Amino acid sequence: MKVTILGATGSIGVSTLDVLARHPDRFDIFALTANSRVAQLASQCIRHRPVYAVVPGEAAANELTGLLRDAGCSTRVLAGERSLCDVCTDPEVEAVMAAIVGAAGLVPTMAAVKAGKRVLLANKESLVMAGPLFMAAVAESEALLLPIDSEHNAIFQCLPDSHGRPLRDGVKKILLSASGGPFRTTPLAELASVTPAEACAHPNWRMGQKISVDSATMMNKGLEIIEACHLFAVDQQQVEVVIHPESIVHSMVEYADGSILAQLGNPDMRTPIAFGLAWPDRIDSGVPSLDIMAVARLNFEAPDLERFPCLVLAMEAARAGGSAPAILNAANEVAVAAFLEGKIAFTAIAGVVAGAMDCVEPTEPRSLEDVQAIDLEARNIANNLVQVRVGEQQVQMR
Ligand code: NDP
Repeated sequence: MKVTILGATGSIGVSTLDVLARHPDRFDIFALTANSRVAQLASQCIRHRPVYAVVPGEAAANELTGLLRDAGCSTRVLAGERSLCDVCTDPEVEAVMAAIVGAAGLVPTMAAVKAGKRVLLANKESLVMAGPLFMAAVAESEALLLPIDSEHNAIFQCLPDSHGRPLRDGVKKILLSASGGPFRTTPLAELASVTPAEACAHPNWRMGQKISVDSATMMNKGLEIIEACHLFAVDQQQVEVVIHPESIVHSMVEYADGSILAQLGNPDMRTPIAFGLAWPDRIDSGVPSLDIMAVARLNFEAPDLERFPCLVLAMEAARAGGSAPAILNAANEVAVAAFLEGKIAFTAIAGVVAGAMDCVEPTEPRSLEDVQAIDLEARNIANNLVQVRVGEQQVQMR
């Protein structure tokens, strides 16, 4: 099977390469893509020898071409969003790992879907932004959409399937696991002064910065509620968030007869990645066996909504539908970037998102262009709200 990895230099990209390298007889790498980490992409090309490598612009393309030439690597270098789409839609490609972070993943992921590929969806933001359009494109193209988010992968595994389409007959509710992140028990008064490094220090998972901060605010769980509604055709009321600090039970499905099915495993993304690559087969992922005796105890509790206002905002967006999830997502990306750059406090993230949701007029997006216009408008408003916060902080410091 020939595979393209969008976002090869990220946490999911690196884990995907690890799984692929364990099965050279089964997989070939068609293309690898990156944004800023050109030297890392060069090393990946030299090691894995894809046909193509894609970077954002001409400067990065020249740098990568030089590095590959010096190493005698024949991978061809392409640049720009159009090339990202081309390496997803090429007739030779069978599977695409969609692991670009954020809204930047929308266009190439949709291109892979429209081309009817096996799409391994890690980039939840594209589904959050354009859920109805995305799922309509899946139905039309007969793409095989396999969720990589560990929770959705667990849910998929707990639902009977029909040729890759999960059947939801008799499903009462989905129990979506959440670790609660690094600040589950931090005194509320201390949250305003937590640092980006503390927010990114997730207790169980090693992930990219954006999703790590989303986990700390629990916006990540909110995005996952929206993702679950689209993937499994359920209402927001049928998705219940369960705090499970050990991250061993990755999610559960409750049926009408009282049965609850769960998927368990060590918190290592190579399990859902291997599942997505090989489905319906099972292959070695490199993940060690879960020692259930050593784990011994599993804990579950309800989320504290006062502590996690971003979760509440995402639930509101899920209920509202239309453009609300795209506004939520765009404002969150801006607010998280501002927090990581040290411009706003951790606790200001929710305020920026709420402000953008109040300011942007809700609409019903009918095309990808509509979604992109909403995304841009929400980003502009969120950026203004960040500037206001920065100004307020400067006044306080005087
Ligand atoms: P990382 O930040 O580690 O990696 C992101 C990847 O996207 C990198 O390869 C990066 O390139 C690339 N990228 C960033 N911006 C752009 C852009 N504008 N254009 C093209 N490529 C870009 O993120 P993760 O791997 O942690 O997450 C990727 C996706 O998977 C996210 O949507 C996340 O929510 C989801 N996910 C991640 C999980 C995890 O365990 N990490 C778990 C479940 C879901 P470069 O590094 O070269 O700048």
